[in-house]
Amino acid sequence: MAGTKFAYVRNFELPDPLLPDTYLVCRLDGHSFHRFSDEHGFAKPNDERALLLMDHAAKSAMIEFKDIMLAFGESDEFSFLFRKSTNLYNRRQSKILTTLTSYFTSCYVLYWSQYFPDTPLRYPPSFDGRIVVYPTERAIRDYFSWRQADTHINNLYNTTFWALIQKGGQTATEAHATLKGTVSATKHEMLFSQFGINYNEIPQRFKKGSVIVREIVAPESSDKGEKLEPPFDPFHQQCSKVKKKNKLETKVEVLHCDIISDEFWLPRRHLLEN
Ligand code: ATP
Ligand code: ATP
Ligand code: MG
Ligand code: MG
Ligand code: MG
Ligand code: MG
Repeated sequence: MAGTKFAYVRNFELPDPLLPDTYLVCRLDGHSFHRFSDEHGFAKPNDERALLLMDHAAKSAMIEFKDIMLAFGESDEFSFLFRKSTNLYNRRQSKILTTLTSYFTSCYVLYWSQYFPDTPLRYPPSFDGRIVVYPTERAIRDYFSWRQADTHINNLYNTTFWALIQKGGQTATEAHATLKGTVSATKHEMLFSQFGINYNEIPQRFKKGSVIVREIVAPESSDKGEKLEPPFDPFHQQCSKVKKKNKLETKVEVLHCDIISDEFWLPRRHLLEN
């Protein structure tokens, strides 16, 4: 196969391994989703169907890529945390990034009609992606805190911005001008006194984003119902049982909770452990 005179060109392909024993964070972001959301009639400021579709695509990606321990999504983006000992594709950067990005994008398209039954896709959406390696647990926690704080800041801004337009009759330019330089307490106050919106009552999904976590299934429940069917080979059964015991069963769950405080992380040591 490699024996032709042309094969030397292969040597121009350079290896791109990611640093060993470091956490990998892959963040995907919709390309030009400002336009995409307009052309597909997304509700503003938060189209719940679009968020549910993003969650579905991210959950599918976590079922496909077992080394993803945690994902966080808001708006048109999702961040995926790979465990630090992952050896997926020998940690080749472009292979991991392109495969995950295209898998996510395909899922987004595949499941589109489940969430937008009356809105045909007008053109193919695409996502950009990047991988950043982080050396410490602290950096990972700060990374996810950064994204969730961003969700909150953007959501408060967008909620007020769209209230000024939809309920206050302002143009986009006027609404931006109204909000220029305001602190968050002012936005809460504007929402409440001018539009009767209590920010605290806005759905958690919009305020906290989506946290998709790989949870360990309690061993008792995973053992249930397992019985040996005759005829069986005792040695083989033993081997497969041992193998099963060492590999804990996990499931993937979507939450809308705080991930900045210890409360999320302390009971979930497995997310950062290896
Ligand atoms: P880029 O290609 O640089 O990422 P972009 O237009 O995608 O450009 P972003 O900063 O990623 O810019 O912002 C995404 C935009 O998509 C938001 O500003 C918002 O207008 C829109 N959007 C994404 N998800 C939703 C949603 N669930 N509901 C309403 N609008 C959304
Ligand atoms: P990898 O993920 O490493 O690329 P792969 O299974 O995709 O693994 P490739 O070396 O890329 O392996 O080979 C692609 C395979 O897909 C071919 O060997 C062939 O079996 C199948 N295939 C692709 N296109 C066609 C086609 N048009 N008709 C029939 N088979 C095809
Ligand atoms: Mg971007
Ligand atoms: Mg975008
Ligand atoms: Mg974005
Ligand atoms: Mg192939």
